[in-house]
Amino acid sequence: MITTGITYASFTGWVDPPTDVVPALEGELTCDVAVVGGGLGGMAAALRLAERGADVVLLEAGVCGCGAASRNAGQLTGAPAGDPQILSATQPRRFPGIVRFAEEAVHFTEKMMREIGIDCDYEPTGNVAAAVTRGQLRKARRNARILRKAGADAEFADGRALGLPEGFLGGIHERVGGMLNPGKFALGLRRALLASGVRVFEHTPVRAVEPGDAGVVVGVPRGRVRAERVLLATNAHSRDLAIAPRRLATPIWVSMAETEPIDPVRLEATGWTSRAGIATQHNLMQSYRLTPRDTIAFAVRRIQTSRGALGAREPDASVVADLGRGFHDRFPSLRDVAIRRAWGGWIAMTPSWLPVAGEAAKNVFYAVGCNGHGLAQAPYLGTLLADRLAGGGLHGDLGAVWRERPRFAPSPVANAPALRAAWALDRLSDRMGTR
Ligand SMILES: Cc1cc2nc3c(=O)[nH]c(=O)nc-3n(C[C@H](O)[C@H](O)[C@H](O)COP(=O)(O)OP(=O)(O)OC[C@H]3O[C@@H](n4cnc5c(N)ncnc54)[C@H](O)[C@@H]3O)c2cc1C
Repeated sequence: MITTGITYASFTGWVDPPTDVVPALEGELTCDVAVVGGGLGGMAAALRLAERGADVVLLEAGVCGCGAASRNAGQLTGAPAGDPQILSATQPRRFPGIVRFAEEAVHFTEKMMREIGIDCDYEPTGNVAAAVTRGQLRKARRNARILRKAGADAEFADGRALGLPEGFLGGIHERVGGMLNPGKFALGLRRALLASGVRVFEHTPVRAVEPGDAGVVVGVPRGRVRAERVLLATNAHSRDLAIAPRRLATPIWVSMAETEPIDPVRLEATGWTSRAGIATQHNLMQSYRLTPRDTIAFAVRRIQTSRGALGAREPDASVVADLGRGFHDRFPSLRDVAIRRAWGGWIAMTPSWLPVAGEAAKNVFYAVGCNGHGLAQAPYLGTLLADRLAGGGLHGDLGAVWRERPRFAPSPVANAPALRAAWALDRLSDRMGTR
C-alpha cells in the first residue's frame, strides 16, 4: 500500500469544520440543566431536555460535534463493545440488558436521523464481526451463540454468504445498523441543536463543577452558570473534571485512514457485495468500510494512551503505516491503492468495557464511556439520562448501565504496555493464521 502523500488532519476527514462558530459564554447565567460537552451524547441530551420543557444551557470546549462524534468510522453498530464471552461470564445478569441496550441504541439513532431529517448517507447494511484466521472463526461462532442466547439479532455465517471480501473467512452478522457519514451526522445534530431553544456556548471549556445547597455552579474561563442540575457528557475528557468519578474512563487515541477513490469495478472484484461494515475479531480490532465516494476507510489496530492534555492531534505516521499494512493483508488485490488522508480522535475506555451512567455528586450526573461503540450508544444514553432528569423513572435500558455508586476499579488493559502486548499478540496470530 502506498503511504506517501498522505494528508494528516487534526480535524475529521469526513466534513469541513463548521464556519458558524457560536461565541463563548461571558458573564453569569441560570438554567434548569447545564450540559457539559457537545458531542453526540451532550447534544442529544440537551435536545431531549429542551423538548421536555427544560431551560438548558450547553457548554462545549471546542465546537459541537467536532470530537469523536464526527471523527469515527461511521459504523452504526448494535454490538456491545467488549468480548461477549468475557462480558457474559463476568456479568451474567447484566449481559442481556447490555445487548438490548446496544440494539435499541441503533433503532433510536435511526429514528432520530429520520425525525430531525439528517442526511448522512446512511446505508442500513448491518455490520460483521469478522474472522481473518481459523482461531477468529472459532471465536466468532462461539460469540454468535452467546449473543443470540442473550437476545441479539445476530448470526454466524461464512464470508461468501455474508458478501465479504475474499480476505475475510466469516463472522457474526449483526443485522441492525449500518454505515453513515459521521461528520454529516454530527453536524446535522448540531444544526438541530442551534435551531432549538437550548442556549449553546462554544469555545467554553468547563473548568469546575461545584454542587451546593442552592444548585450547582459551573465555572468557565469568563463566567459561570448556576444550574439546578448538571449533566456531564465529556467522553474521553472526563478525567479533566475533578467532579467526574475517579477512573471512570481512560482516554484512548484511535487513528483512521482513507484510501484514494478506487475504480468501482476493482471494488466489486473484491467480493464485498453486501457493503456491510467490518470489524475483525483481533484483540485490537481493525475496522473496514466502503464509502459513497468509492474509497475504503479503516481504523484502530494500534491504539495509544496519553497522560497529558488531550489537545489537537494528528495521527502518527508509523501508526498509519501499520494500518496500511493491515489493509494490504486484507485487500491484496488493492495493494497499489494509496492512502489519501488520515485523522484520529479520543475515545473513552471504561474498566468494564461497558457504557456507564450515574450520579457523580448531588445533582451532577454523568453518561460516558461507549468504548468505541458510541455512534449509536452515546446519543441514546444521553437521551435516556435526559428523560430521567426531566422527571422520568429509570428506563430499563438506562438501568442496564446505571451505577448506584460512582466507584470504578482500575482498568487492567488501558495502559501502554498492555495495549502494545495486545497489538503484538494480534500480529503473531495473523502470522500463524490459526489462533
Ligand atoms: C477514530 C474513531 C473511530 C470510531 N469508530 C466508531 C464506529 O465506527 N462506531 C461507533 O459506534 N463508534 C465509533 N467511535 C466511537 C464514537 O465516536 C464515540 O463513542 C462517540 O462519539 C462518543 O460520544 P460523544 O460523541 O458524546 O463524544 P465526543 O464527541 O468526544 O464529545 C465530548 C465533547 O465534550 C467536550 N468536552 C469535554 N470536556 C469538556 C469540558 N470540560 N468543557 C466543555 N466541553 C467539554 C469535547 O470537546 C467534546 O466535543 C470511534 C471513535 C474514533 C475516535
